[in-house]
Amino acid sequence: MTLDESICQPQEMRLHLPYFTAGRVVEGFGRGSKQLGCPTANFPRSVVETLPKDFIPGVYYGWARVDKQPVYKMVMNIGWCPYYNNEQKSMETHILHEFEDDFYGSQLKICILGYLRPEKNFSSLDDLITEIKSDIKNAGEALDDDNCLQFKTHSFFNEC
Ligand code: ADP
Ligand code: MG
Repeated sequence: MTLDESICQPQEMRLHLPYFTAGRVVEGFGRGSKQLGCPTANFPRSVVETLPKDFIPGVYYGWARVDKQPVYKMVMNIGWCPYYNNEQKSMETHILHEFEDDFYGSQLKICILGYLRPEKNFSSLDDLITEIKSDIKNAGEALDDDNCLQFKTHSFFNEC
């Protein structure tokens, strides 16, 4: 079974998946960890701009590697974050691992495998936090599937 067949999602959501990209971690808006208890490593504009124009905004899951550290599960937001009225498109990756230190400036490689939900607005910060927790749980479970696990050891993560 191919990845496409294994994940029950509309075709347009899977259009560019699996999607591999990499770049240096830059400073974002400084609110991920502070307000939400969920740090998100931001890619620079140069990486965001290479996304295909018809890549659907939303919350995705996949694998991530920071420098030479192990490959970990990740959940990421691609888009404008309606709750915060962002004007610029961003790609923000939350890695499902507790790091001892921040890793600004490190090389972050990601492989996006599946789509979880569209971006949406929330009436309160509590609602947003509840949704993020459920995204993390759903991403963690989806990635345990064999069709996703095979990408954890993809040669992309070992190339320099
Ligand atoms: P910023 O607005 O600068 O992106 P955040 O509050 O979103 O700030 O925190 C993101 C930073 O936290 C990342 O750039 C990274 O250095 C660090 N970090 C620590 N743990 C994680 C993690 N599990 N996932 C993503 N980033 C993490
Ligand atoms: Mg961030």
